Order: sequence, then C-alpha cells, then structure tokens
Amino acid sequence: MDILTLKSKDKLDCNLCDKCCIYRGDIRLTPINVFEISKYLNISIKDFLEKYTDRLANNQFELVLKTRGKLRQCILYDEINKKCSIHSVKPMQCVMFPLVPENLKRDYFYNSGQCTMENPKEITVSKWLNGNHRIYSKNKKICMEWIEFIEWAQSKLDMISNKSILQEDFIDKIYEVLFLNYNLKNYNLKTQMRKNMKKARDEIKKII
Ligand code: SF4
Ligand code: SF4
Repeated sequence: MDILTLKSKDKLDCNLCDKCCIYRGDIRLTPINVFEISKYLNISIKDFLEKYTDRLANNQFELVLKTRGKLRQCILYDEINKKCSIHSVKPMQCVMFPLVPENLKRDYFYNSGQCTMENPKEITVSKWLNGNHRIYSKNKKICMEWIEFIEWAQSKLDMISNKSILQEDFIDKIYEVLFLNYNLKNYNLKTQMRKNMKKARDEIKKII
C-alpha cells in the first residue's frame, strides 16, 4: 500500500453515511476521549466507563467502545438518525478512518480501503485530518504520549514472570489512576492525563 503524507491526495471525501460504524473492530479510547465523551453525553465518567466501554481482554489498561449485536455496531451509533452520536468528540481512530497511521509522529498513513462509499472524491490527507472539529491536530500529541505509555506498560508487565503480582486489585488501581483520577480545578485535562500516566508508571516500576 502507498504511504500517504499530509500533502498526498487520496479518495477520502466522505459523505458521513457512518456505515463504517458497523463491523468497525475495536475503537480504542484515551482518557481524553473518556472525559470529553462523558461530558458531551452529560453523564459521569464512572457511568460512561460502565455503560459504554470494555477493557481489552489481553491488555488491561486499554479501553474500547462496546459494540451491539452480531454486526458489532458501535454503541455510540445513533440508529434513528443513522449517524455518530458524538461526532464532535469522536475518538482519534474514527477521526482518521479510513486512514490508518503507519507512523503517527511523522504523519505517515495508508488508506485501509475500508470506506464503503463507491467513489469518494480525492482530497488531501491534511484536509481530511483537519476536518472534524480539528480533533486530530488538537489531540495528536497527547495520543502519541498515550500510545507510548501503553506500549511501555504492556512490555513491562509482559516481563513479569510471577504473574500473581498482577492481582486484579493492582490492575484496577492503575486503571483508576488512568481513567478516574481528575482534578480539573487545579490542572487542565492534558496536564492531568500526563500526571496520571506518570503516577501509573511509578506504580508499575515498583513491581518490576
Ligand atoms: S468513511 Fe466511508 S463509510 Fe465511513 S462515513 Fe465516510 S463515506 Fe461512510
Ligand atoms: S464513535 Fe462514532 S464514528 Fe466512531 S465508530 Fe462509534 S458511532 Fe462511529
């Protein structure tokens, strides 16, 4: 597949049919998404986590959106209006789709070809990514920090031979630090997320 840069043109102009919200695979969430989506839905973070998310089975710190039925339709797909119900705060994977990052740091992508529209118009990758309330440019840096943290945490936990250390309550403690610990009176959201990742790293370092 061709590698696309920000200046590349490709068949990306979407008609927002949101058919890609069905059979979409796992949509991963960062703590930014958890906070923003729960705020948008006007529910507590705890309720959002319980009602709308699952933990990835083999990676306890990663969250994905729940799906419905055999078609694995995203739980946030609005069936009546046939569209995403959280368009302005959707997760990065949804913002980029059908692009998949080959190297996020360098803005290299490939087109997964999974858009079901027959003949999308060609537009630049830059234009595609910077639509959608500029979520891409707003959250790219913190998303990369999150991916780096997740990869680090997973590699460290994989190294632990005595898996009994990884009792459920340890995993739950890290989960709470990452997703439930917000003090937005004192810090902005990204600062709080960085503090939480640092705290989680420190906790993990204690057991390795
Ligand atoms: S990316 Fe394709 S399938 Fe998804 S909403 Fe746009 S046109 Fe529809
Ligand atoms: S969050 Fe929105 S765009 Fe993403 S899969 Fe769910 S309904 Fe579709």
